[in-house]
Amino acid sequence: MNNKIEKNCAVCKHKIIVSQGGNGECFNCGWYNNILGEENENTVIFPNLISLNKAKKLYKENKPFKPDLNDFLDGLYCYREMQFSYNNLNCCVFVRGEEQTTIEFGWSPNHVYYFKDKEDFIKNAKIDNDYVRDIWDKVENACYL
Ligand SMILES: [Zn+2]
Repeated sequence: MNNKIEKNCAVCKHKIIVSQGGNGECFNCGWYNNILGEENENTVIFPNLISLNKAKKLYKENKPFKPDLNDFLDGLYCYREMQFSYNNLNCCVFVRGEEQTTIEFGWSPNHVYYFKDKEDFIKNAKIDNDYVRDIWDKVENACYL
């Protein structure tokens, strides 16, 4: 029984094999093809870290599919648990609160901080003396938990 189908990657158009639901990773560009992401092409949807339209643009420019801080936080609100590394610190970011807008951010029991929403995080989140927005280009392994 073969329940896989062939399709063209939504980003790079290479022929790839995906599940019948249209989901599967592209071996050529690394995009995780998924129907929800194709229907919402400007939204960051798990398991990708950027939107489909941004992936198409970066692919054309020959750049990696790296999320900016805004993409990362959109992914956070989609999935609720994310992480990244910076200077050997493993930073975790969670969505908390009744309204599910509060962001919990930390890298150890003594370093846990809360932000009321995405804007508050972008404006005020720091690692030691550095604003996260200023060091974002240096963070590594930004991904879903
Ligand atoms: Zn592809």
